[in-house]
Amino acid sequence: MKITANDPTRKTWIEVTKDSDFPIQNIPFGVFLTRDDIITIGTRIGDFAIDLGALHQLGYFADIPLTDDIFLQDTLNDFIADGRKTWRLVRNKIAELFDKNNALLRDNTEHRERVIFAMEEVEMQLPVDIGDYTDFYASKEHATNVGSIFRDPKNALLPNWVHIPIGYHGRSSSIIPSGTPIRRPNGQTKPADANTPIFGPTKLLDFELEMAFITTDVNKLGKPIAIEEATEYIFGLVLFNDWSARDIQGWEYIPLGPFLGKNFASTISPWIVTLDALKPFKVKSPKQNPKPLPYLKQHGKKSYDIHLHAYIQPENGEETLVSNSNFKYMYWTMVQQLTHHTSNGCNVRAGDMMGSGTISGPTPDSYGSMLELTWRGQHPIKLSDGTERKFIQDNDTVILRGFCENEHVRIGFGDCSGKVLPAYEK
Ligand code: CA
Repeated sequence: MKITANDPTRKTWIEVTKDSDFPIQNIPFGVFLTRDDIITIGTRIGDFAIDLGALHQLGYFADIPLTDDIFLQDTLNDFIADGRKTWRLVRNKIAELFDKNNALLRDNTEHRERVIFAMEEVEMQLPVDIGDYTDFYASKEHATNVGSIFRDPKNALLPNWVHIPIGYHGRSSSIIPSGTPIRRPNGQTKPADANTPIFGPTKLLDFELEMAFITTDVNKLGKPIAIEEATEYIFGLVLFNDWSARDIQGWEYIPLGPFLGKNFASTISPWIVTLDALKPFKVKSPKQNPKPLPYLKQHGKKSYDIHLHAYIQPENGEETLVSNSNFKYMYWTMVQQLTHHTSNGCNVRAGDMMGSGTISGPTPDSYGSMLELTWRGQHPIKLSDGTERKFIQDNDTVILRGFCENEHVRIGFGDCSGKVLPAYEK
């Protein structure tokens, strides 16, 4: 089926500024609370949220086989479970309805008032009920940097890393939408000069610049999928800040891996940008050497050219850009991650989320965490207000942004932001 929604020449009758992340070619999906306190599934064009539940009730999706309540829900799980054909039909229909030359909704003032909201009138929610969340470790630069800092610069990359998309099972209960403040976690750490651990607020609070993909139902328990099919099951992507407490992590992670240093909060951007919308920005991923085993062998362009930026904003201060990375730096691609995840028969369901792992590039300004940017605090970063940061301080806000751009169109993700509040007293 043709993705007519991606037509770069299409203009819309909704006002969209030139630098907007949300032109008519984006059409992401999200969940929001309207001014009347009604929760609905919607999309976004420019700075306007569009109520898909209301559009459906008014009959605008009549020629697509959808259940009556598909958009009148507080999560996208059922819509995602309907599969790629439905996602495409709905995106194509939205593009058609908001096309500059289509008078049907454009000239119906009463309907327009029912379905279109200014962004400041709505409150974004988590877009999916995330059943399971897995976090990968897919950037070679990041894995090498962390291996050098935590273990041994001479053997920074462990031998399995170039053969397996390394990952661990995370926790979905603490995944929150952009704008939700987080608490500095308390935890157990062992200072380098002490023989016994202490308990208290983390001193090394960090962000991780990541993206995450949301899946539809992939496989039945026991049945792996082939890598050629994997793209079919990926609904779309969000920005993802996998907040980390490095001192808690460093003490607890051996032998079973990340635990309380990671699961206290993870922030996502609220609009899921579909893989279909990102199609014009496909690029090849880094060359893999040694060659992966046959079940992980991929052909063609399997990555995406997505510019990724991280900013720190002190309270009442300005934002400072601290990281300038790109999704295309990831060594292991999403299709390899998903294929590997099901290779033992583990079942992946609609609404599951897979984090990429911190996406660091080859140059120091492209590192995706404070741990790497300051080399564990050795080289502090100067912010525009003159203050320095080794890690994230109380009342700092961390903002991730991401976008793709070519000569025709810019497709972005909006903000993934979170403010750090002081720890609760122990
Ligand atoms: Ca992570």
